Amino acid sequence: MNDAERIALEHYGLDGPATPLHGELDLNFALDGHVLKVYAPGTDAARLDAQDAALEHLAGLELVPRLVRTHDGAARVAVARVSSHAGHGGARRHSSRVQDGGGVARVLTWVAGTPWAALAAHPPESLRSLGRAVARVDRALAGFDHPALDTRRWNMLAAADLCGEAAGEAAAVLERFAAQVLPRLRALPAQAIHNDANEHNVLVGDDGEVCGLIDFGDICRAPRACGLAVACAYAMTTLGVPERRFLPLVAGYHEVAPLTPDELSLLPDLIRTRLAMSVAMAARQRREQPGNEYLLISQEAIAALLGRLDAIPPELEQLRLRSACGYEAVAHARAVRGFLQTAEAGPVCNPPLRDAPVLDWSGHDPKPPAATPALGRYMEDRRVYDSDAFATELPGEWRTLHLGVDVLLDAGEPILAPLDGVVRDSAVRAAARDYGGVVLLDHATPEGVTFHTLYGHLTAELPPPGARIARGDVIGHVGAEHENGGWAPHLHLQLLTTDLGAGCAVHGVGTLAERDLWESVSPDPNLLLGLPGGIRAEPPRATADVLAARLSSLSRTLSISYAEPLRIVRGAGAYLYDEHGAAYLDLVNNVCHVGHAHPRVVRAAAEQMARLNTNTRYLHDLIVTYARRLAATLPDPLCVVFLVNSGSEANDLALRLARAQTGARDVLVLEHAYHGNLSSLIEISPYKFTGPGGAGRPEHVRVCRLPRSAGDAEDVRRHAERNAPAAFIAESLPGVAGQVVLPDGYLEAAYANARAAGAVCIADEVQVGFGRVGRAFWGFELGGVVPDVVTLGKPIGNGHPIGAVVTTPEIARSFETGMEYFNTFGGNPVSCAAALAVLDVIADERLQAHAARLGARIMAGLRELAARHPAISDVRGEGLFIGVELAGAEAADAAVEHARHAGVLLSTDGPQRNVLKIKPPMVLGDDDAERLLRTLDGALQRP
Ligand code: PMP
Repeated sequence: MNDAERIALEHYGLDGPATPLHGELDLNFALDGHVLKVYAPGTDAARLDAQDAALEHLAGLELVPRLVRTHDGAARVAVARVSSHAGHGGARRHSSRVQDGGGVARVLTWVAGTPWAALAAHPPESLRSLGRAVARVDRALAGFDHPALDTRRWNMLAAADLCGEAAGEAAAVLERFAAQVLPRLRALPAQAIHNDANEHNVLVGDDGEVCGLIDFGDICRAPRACGLAVACAYAMTTLGVPERRFLPLVAGYHEVAPLTPDELSLLPDLIRTRLAMSVAMAARQRREQPGNEYLLISQEAIAALLGRLDAIPPELEQLRLRSACGYEAVAHARAVRGFLQTAEAGPVCNPPLRDAPVLDWSGHDPKPPAATPALGRYMEDRRVYDSDAFATELPGEWRTLHLGVDVLLDAGEPILAPLDGVVRDSAVRAAARDYGGVVLLDHATPEGVTFHTLYGHLTAELPPPGARIARGDVIGHVGAEHENGGWAPHLHLQLLTTDLGAGCAVHGVGTLAERDLWESVSPDPNLLLGLPGGIRAEPPRATADVLAARLSSLSRTLSISYAEPLRIVRGAGAYLYDEHGAAYLDLVNNVCHVGHAHPRVVRAAAEQMARLNTNTRYLHDLIVTYARRLAATLPDPLCVVFLVNSGSEANDLALRLARAQTGARDVLVLEHAYHGNLSSLIEISPYKFTGPGGAGRPEHVRVCRLPRSAGDAEDVRRHAERNAPAAFIAESLPGVAGQVVLPDGYLEAAYANARAAGAVCIADEVQVGFGRVGRAFWGFELGGVVPDVVTLGKPIGNGHPIGAVVTTPEIARSFETGMEYFNTFGGNPVSCAAALAVLDVIADERLQAHAARLGARIMAGLRELAARHPAISDVRGEGLFIGVELAGAEAADAAVEHARHAGVLLSTDGPQRNVLKIKPPMVLGDDDAERLLRTLDGALQRP
């Protein structure tokens, strides 16, 4: 037994072989799922206390090791001599001072994972998870404090201490830090930060997600941007094109702990500062320990990175960071665009451009059309057009986004200044494929925000920098091919909210991947030209960029289906098509009821949209025609119609009607029900209020048992009798509760019990109405009841947003209190035209009968599958509203994923999320039904 094993057994009861690990200032051993650390005698006890306290504060966070106390409950134990057994010098960062003098030991739990440094590749998802991990630790440390946190060692707030230690780039960075960055850094709030997320302290799991952040030896109090900068700096040393590739790390941090624009504005400097600190500390250590090779090796990557970053304007990096976090890249771009919206810009040529044709230059050189001028906007062309110093394409990327507009004019045409300005820079860039004569003007908004305009491909006769130019002055002349970089004669006109300090050497093209950034740097030049038809192009976004932009620019509470999300670009009938043209059979979309993009519905809506769209304050045929047609599908006395915009709005209005009618407020609902996304409906949706993030059941809501038999209507009576309710609301076939068919006799008895207590009965037909259940047009008809209020949504407009409430004349009267009901969009003629077409198609294509026949066939097939697959515990449904209950959520998810890869879209529901829901567009074909059965059969056969 060696020294480490003896200490572990004696003080911690840990029994097992100890394997030496590397450590910077301490001796580390892996031992029985733990790490034993032995510190030299001089180690600052207060700093060790701070680490111990921090680890105990973080005890709930699985990312970090837990502190294990000794038998006596001590955090550390004094030990005598320890022999290192560290015979593998290469892995050791540092020769330790521990061996001879003994010291103090502590034990931490072992966090499994591969060190970041040991991985061959670092994909964007790993970087994102690294950011999330650092942010989670920072968030957890926000409430932690300790007197020993105010250390200067490795604390960026004390980076200026190192100014004299380094030379060259590192020295310049540290001096800039002291003079310009530190005062701004001090203005940020400080907290405890881990401060050492380097490539050896970050652990990655088999799934590529960061699963551990270890070594709290450098914990200190500083603004959290400093700790993030440490993670960025070291991660960047492991990446190609680091200034682009590290961005997901910051986006991941922002996902968990949102970063402010002030923090982001400092980050590029902080990253450089951390690298310079490392250079300076290494220089100091080399003086102290000449011959330590490890120090040299790790420094090479850092020096190379510092050199590379030196060529990139920190401002550009800041724009990238802002964009990655969902902020507009250039903060003042809004002010520039705002000014240009109202500025009286003059023409850039004479005669002025009016309706110049816009050329599509995809894939070929600009050739002037017979009649000039003309405009070219963006070129989808696999070539790099300019050769500026800070080009940072990723491998395989091309700068194909043209940031200006090319106005094809004859050589020698004078170019006029559209606005007053001052020449910031002018130059002749005569190389092939360059700009020729180019002028950059400075302008300012009345509030003093500067911006620029750029004119390229001119002759060499140019105004000098500093020259004042008035609106309408000649700036230069269109250059001929031999003097303009070898192009057909044209003007490249570009607006810039910043020149990134490059003068005339601005970016004229950018990569599509950084489209949002470049559109902020170079707004639409039509802000100057003012052509009514517009000249803007909408270049495509790569799928990865769509995902990243969703994460930064939309709420993450919007979920995305499937482990590998689908990018759907087109729909027809019961099929959806992805961006590659692959077809997916859609078995979930009961919104596009009569089929995706049904031509009759599309035509009706488009024709009406081309004619008129207004609100209900004018008389219009369509709204009354639709109200009559809709009411005619419902039994007496349901005949007064309200048109709204969604199922949620319909249910909210239904509650108002019931409350107006009864004067009561309470609502009876069924277990697991969902009735919509408005506050009033989250309150009556057990699926939401008892689910994740839910606030629990409100006082005015009573939850009735999801019925197993008609006898469960007694539960409605019990709840109704307690306090007079305003309403009993139920879906005619509960959907999110798991595609449930209510037991025979239940609705009748439940309605009777609710009405006996004075309640209004609301049927939520949002999911199941319009013939879907086959045997009837409305779901409630299967239960033999007539509701007092019916609410409609989803299928009503075949995807056009419209909803409806239909009620009795009596309830409608109760709602007439003197308060106007106004709904801006509700009942607009376009929605009515779409909804009317839906009713026509259902009837003309005999879709209800089709649903009855095909639904029965699918149910029979499913029952046959159930007989062969024990994983199926129940098959239920009516028409084309079907549920297949599986053994558990895992089996259901696996079936959904299997089907997705087989080109069939399904999803799950139910309290256990173990019910496959089948509610396809009603135009599902017989072959499609067979395919559904075959796919499910295959999914269930898998082990
Ligand atoms: N009621 C039910 C039964 C629903 O399923 C939904 C939507 N899933 C709604 C109401 C709310 O409809 P919307 O999302 O159109 O507001």
